[in-house]
Amino acid sequence: PAWRATVLTLFPEMFPGPLGLSLSGQALEAGLWSLNTVFIREFGLGRHRAVDDSPAGGGAGMVMRADVLAAAIDHARTAEPDMPLIYMSPRGEPLSQALAAELAAGPGVMLLAGRFEGVDERVIAARQMREVSIGDYVLSGGELAAMVLMDACVRLLPGVMGASASLSEESFENGLLEYPQYTKPREWEGRAIPDILLSGDHAKVAKWRRQQAERITAERRPDLIGGKG
Ligand code: SAM
Repeated sequence: PAWRATVLTLFPEMFPGPLGLSLSGQALEAGLWSLNTVFIREFGLGRHRAVDDSPAGGGAGMVMRADVLAAAIDHARTAEPDMPLIYMSPRGEPLSQALAAELAAGPGVMLLAGRFEGVDERVIAARQMREVSIGDYVLSGGELAAMVLMDACVRLLPGVMGASASLSEESFENGLLEYPQYTKPREWEGRAIPDILLSGDHAKVAKWRRQQAERITAERRPDLIGGKG
C-alpha cells in the first residue's frame, strides 16, 4: 500500500507545487505515494467561513480557531484514521533524517499547516498533535514546512530512488556529513579530481571518503559527532 500524505491548509492550491516535479512528482505519478489536501476554509464559521479570531489576552495578529481546526481534522480522519497527526510549528521537535525515516516507514502523514500567529493551543492537546519544526526561523505559513517534511520522507520510500545504495551514504545516514563528490571532467579550471578516486581501489576510496566525511563534519558540525546525529 502506497504512503499517503494529507495536508490541512488554507492554501490547497499550493500543492503539489514543487512536489509534482522531478523525483517526488514521478513517484506521485507512479502511485508510490499520494497527496491530498483538506481546505480548512470549508470548515469555517458563518457567511465568511471564518477560521481565525483575535488572540485571547490581546496582541497582534490572529489565531486559528480550535473548533474549526478540529472539524477539519475529524473530517480528514474519517478517511485516514491511523495517520500520525503533525502540526508544523517552529516550537516543534526538529525535523531530522531519523524522523523522516521513521515517518516514511509508517503509513503516511497528516499535516496541519498553520497561518497567522498559529493555532489555538487547545486543539494541539485535544487532537494529540505532534509538533515538528523544520528549523529555527519563522515562515509565514506551514505549507512550505509540510512540503519539506514530505519531500524528505518520499525520497526514502521503496522504489522512489533508482539506486537505493546512494541513500545509505548520504549526509546524516551514518551520523556524518557527506564526503566531497566529483564528476567529469578530470581537470577543471586547474583543479583535478583527487587521484585516489580514479585509482580503482575501492577499499582506499571508501577509506578516503570516510576520512573526508569525518573531517568535514568535525569542521562544520561538531555537534553531530559523538551523539545524537
Ligand atoms: N507565532 C508563531 C510562533 O512564534 O511560533 C509563528 C506562526 S508562523 C507566522 C505561521 C505558521 O507557519 C505556523 O503556525 C506554522 O504552521 C508555520 N511555521 C512557521 N515557521 C515554521 C517552522 N520553522 N517549522 C514548521 N512550521 C513553521
